[in-house]
Amino acid sequence: MPAAVDASHLFENSGETSRICVRWLLNPGQAPEENCCLTITAGVVADIRPCRAGDRIQPLVVIPPLVNAHTHLEFSSLQQPFSSAGTFPDWIGRVLAWRGQVSMEQRERIRAGVKESRQAGVRLAGDIVTGQHSATDLSAWQGVSAVLFREVIALTPERFAGQLSDLHEHLRSVSVSAAPAERLVAGISPHAPYTVHPQVLQELVRLACRYQAPLAMHLAETAEELELLQCGTGPFAELLQRLGVWDSQVFPGGRDPQELLEQLQVAPRSLVVHGNYLSDGHIRYLARHPQLTVVYCPRTHAWFRHPPHPFCRMRQAGVSVVLGTDGRSTNPDLSIFRELQSLLRQYPDLDIQDVLGMVTTAAAEALGVPEVSRPIVVGQPWRATLLRLPTGVAGLAEICRHENLTVMGLDSVQVDLGG
Ligand SMILES: [Zn+2]
Repeated sequence: MPAAVDASHLFENSGETSRICVRWLLNPGQAPEENCCLTITAGVVADIRPCRAGDRIQPLVVIPPLVNAHTHLEFSSLQQPFSSAGTFPDWIGRVLAWRGQVSMEQRERIRAGVKESRQAGVRLAGDIVTGQHSATDLSAWQGVSAVLFREVIALTPERFAGQLSDLHEHLRSVSVSAAPAERLVAGISPHAPYTVHPQVLQELVRLACRYQAPLAMHLAETAEELELLQCGTGPFAELLQRLGVWDSQVFPGGRDPQELLEQLQVAPRSLVVHGNYLSDGHIRYLARHPQLTVVYCPRTHAWFRHPPHPFCRMRQAGVSVVLGTDGRSTNPDLSIFRELQSLLRQYPDLDIQDVLGMVTTAAAEALGVPEVSRPIVVGQPWRATLLRLPTGVAGLAEICRHENLTVMGLDSVQVDLGG
């Protein structure tokens, strides 16, 4: 876990103006700028220029604020992920058993996850919140903005009817309850094709349009899910039968993720979480619908030993893809930068600037909160994540792979320079 440290001493301060000279300034899609001097006046980037002789260059990389597009902070008390042995429904069984016996209150688990995220430099997270989430849980969000996707699990319209008033309350209350330093935005998460009735999904899309709320749905995550949709059989059918919620009318076979993509694209913006098993046809459809963004979770994907993610084909087709950590139920930590490093190790031909937007600016846009992470340019408010280079590491390619980068704590920087 990267340790957060106070970064304020790195700045030369004079009245309202602060200055910092760094080894690299890195914006998504742009050539890296080496040995850069940034001047910040009253919280706004006033000047960026090459360093001069005598400047004290810090061993730092400055990037836009980090964004974790998909996580489940309710699992943040876990020391290690649940075993991925057996089928995916077996893993779900472990989650359900844990939920039945966990002793730490949900608010405290979320608080731990927010703290870990903040220490990992994350300034915005797309968090899935469950039915137990309450307005008091909002106080856990200190120093990190969030889109709180209220999870809906309803395999019958009747079951959904019982959740509707809580969902309306969530959609109405979250934005007004936000603490001033953080932005909290209400979203909706139809959980997955195997837990949401098609009519319920249609209703959730309608609500998303009415409230202009973002959607997030796990989709095409496993081969078992595709078997359920396409054949109405397999481990998911058995799980639903065991749980007493099986309805062969909902899973008659002959269904496909395509129908779900077509429903999701009606909403103002939807995150298609995982998409591990999407086909070339689905990818072409995604490319034509920029309101749909795929969230790829590389370390979670590896945890379940799926075949390679169609990430490269998606990029080539022009699909918007961003990264998420998922939760500690499938991942050892909540560092989105480590997620990026994992991707870069997997795809050595990619340069960091090609994919940096997936954990910063593009991810903030996909969540509908672009102001939290913008490119670092003159005239923009100063918001950044600082990465401290270990001794002896100077090259950008090395940064991609290095295990011991320190992500700097930002709170003090925000206080000092925010005006
Ligand atoms: Zn998830």
